[in-house]
Amino acid sequence: MEYFPWWNEKQKQLMKETKSFADEKLPKGEEISWTKAFPKNLLEETAKRGWFGALIPKEFGGIGTGVTGCCIVAEQLSRICSALTGAYSVTMFGGTEQLLKFGTEEQKKRWLPGIAKGMLAAICITEPDVGSDASSIETTARQEADEYVINGKKRFITNAGVAGIYLVYAKISDRSEDKSKYKHLNALIVEKNTAGLSVERINELGGWVGLPNGYLDFNEVRVPVENRIGQDGDGWKVLVEGLNFERTLFAAGMLGPMKEALRYAIGHSQRRIQFERPTIDWEVNQFKIADIIAKLMISRLTVYYAAYLMDLNAEAVLEATLAKLYTPESYERVLTDASQVMGGDGWTKFYPIENFLRDARVNQIGAGTSEVMRMVIFRQGLKTLEEDLKMPARTLDKKLNVPISTPKPAVLTETNEENVLLILAEDYQVNPGLYMSREDIKKRFANINDEQIDMLLISLESKGLAKLYKDKKGTIKLAKATYAGLRKARPLEYYRWFPEWLDKELIF
Ligand SMILES: Cc1cc2nc3c(=O)[nH]c(=O)nc-3n(C[C@H](O)[C@H](O)[C@H](O)COP(=O)(O)OP(=O)(O)OC[C@H]3O[C@@H](n4cnc5c(N)ncnc54)[C@H](O)[C@@H]3O)c2cc1C
Repeated sequence: MEYFPWWNEKQKQLMKETKSFADEKLPKGEEISWTKAFPKNLLEETAKRGWFGALIPKEFGGIGTGVTGCCIVAEQLSRICSALTGAYSVTMFGGTEQLLKFGTEEQKKRWLPGIAKGMLAAICITEPDVGSDASSIETTARQEADEYVINGKKRFITNAGVAGIYLVYAKISDRSEDKSKYKHLNALIVEKNTAGLSVERINELGGWVGLPNGYLDFNEVRVPVENRIGQDGDGWKVLVEGLNFERTLFAAGMLGPMKEALRYAIGHSQRRIQFERPTIDWEVNQFKIADIIAKLMISRLTVYYAAYLMDLNAEAVLEATLAKLYTPESYERVLTDASQVMGGDGWTKFYPIENFLRDARVNQIGAGTSEVMRMVIFRQGLKTLEEDLKMPARTLDKKLNVPISTPKPAVLTETNEENVLLILAEDYQVNPGLYMSREDIKKRFANINDEQIDMLLISLESKGLAKLYKDKKGTIKLAKATYAGLRKARPLEYYRWFPEWLDKELIF
C-alpha cells in the first residue's frame, strides 16, 4: 500500500525513512495535542534529515525528489501531528516552489539552501477583506527607486512569526486594464525582522494545534526590487501557477491521519468485546472500515497521480484540484467513521483520533475551499473534456420508430429558411423540451456559416416561427421552433408518437 510502482528508488527510500521516523515520533505528536507547543524540535529533526530539501535540487542544497518526494514527506509527517505538516507544507508552497519556478539564479542561491536546512516560509495572500476572491488583494506595494514599500494587512497566515521569509502578494496598480489582465499584483519576499513588519494577532484555531496562524501588519515595509519573484505585474501568475502544487501537497498532508484512523479503528474494534464478541465482528463496523480503506486508497491515488504529472511537467489542474476536493471530504468521513467504530473512546483525547478529527474543517477551507475546488473542476472539467462531453445528435430511428442517438445526422445541401425550420421541427420530434444549439444546426447543413445561420434564424424569429436564446453579448446560442413554426414545417401527423401497447381507441 505504501509505494506506487512509478516511484523511483530515491522516492521509495524516502518513504521508508520518513515512515520509520513517523513511527518513532508518534508519541511526540500526541504530546503536542496536550501542550499545544510549536513542534520546534520535530521540525529541526526533519530538517536535519534533509527532508526540507525534498523539492529542492541538489545544486541548491536539496535532495531532489520532486513533488512526489515532497508529498511523501508531508504524508508521513502528518501522521505525527498537523502542526508539523502545516509548518512544512506551507514552507514548500510559501516560497520554495515559486522560487524554483520563477526565481532568478541569485534568488535561488540566496534562499533555497536556507529552506533546505529548515528555515520556514509563509505565504501571504489572504487579508481581512480578501478571501476566496484572491485577486482583489488590497495590500499595496509602491515602487520608490529600487525598493517596494508595502502597506496593508494579511490574515490567516500560517507560520506567522516563526517563518524566516514571507511571500507577500501586493497590489501595484489600481488601473482597471491591469486588473482585467491580472497584471496588478507583485509577489515579494519579505524577510523576518524587516522594519515595519509585525505580527498583529495569533488565532485560536479549532484545530491545527501548535501551529501559529495569524494576522500580519505591513507598515511602510521596504524591500529591494531584487526580492520580487517574477517580473513586474507577474504576481497573479506566480500565485496561480503554484496552486496545483499547493493543492496536491495540502492533500498529501491529510493522508497520514487517515491511515492512523484506519489503524485505530481496526485495533480498537479487535480489542473491544460487546455482546460477547469483538466489535469488529459486527458488519456495520466492517463496512465502516472498508469505506475507510477505499477512501484512503483513492485519496492516495489522486494525490500521487497529480504529483506524478507535475514531476513530468504535464498539465495537472484537474487532477490537483480533484485531490484537494476529494481528500479533505474523505478525511472528514474517514475520521468520523473511525471515531464511531471506537464508540466513546473515539471522542476522548486519550486517543489521537479526536485531535485529527478537529482538523477536518480546516482541510476544506485552507488552500482554497471545497466550493472553489468545485468551481475549478466544473470550469476546467468542461474545458478539458469538451470533445468527449458533446451530447450526441438524436433522430427518430426508422426501424424502431423511437428517438435514438445517431453518429451522423442527415445533412441538407440547400441552405434556406424552410430547411432551417425543418431541422428545428425534426429536433422537436426527438427533443421536444430542448432548444437546438447553433453548432447542432450548423452540422445539419453541408455549407453554412455563422452569419448565414444568424440571418435565417433572425428572419424566422421575426415571422414568429422560431424563438432564440442569446448570451449577454447578443450572440445567438440556441433556437427552437415556435408552435406556429412547427405547424408550418410539418403536419401534426409527423410529430405524433404512441407506444405499441397503447389502446388506439384512446387516440383522437
Ligand atoms: C487554518 C487556516 C490556515 C490558513 N493559512 C493561510 C496562509 O498561510 N496564507 C494565506 O494567504 N491564507 C491562508 N488561509 C486562508 C484561506 O486560504 C482562506 O480562509 C480561504 O481561501 C477562504 O477564504 P475566507 O476564509 O475569507 O472565506 P470566504 O472567501 O469569505 O468564503 C466564505 C464561504 O463562501 C464561499 N464562497 C466564496 N466565494 C464563493 C463563490 N464565488 N462561489 C461559491 N462559494 C463561494 C466559500 O467557499 C466559503 O464557504 C488559511 C485559512 C485557515 C482557516
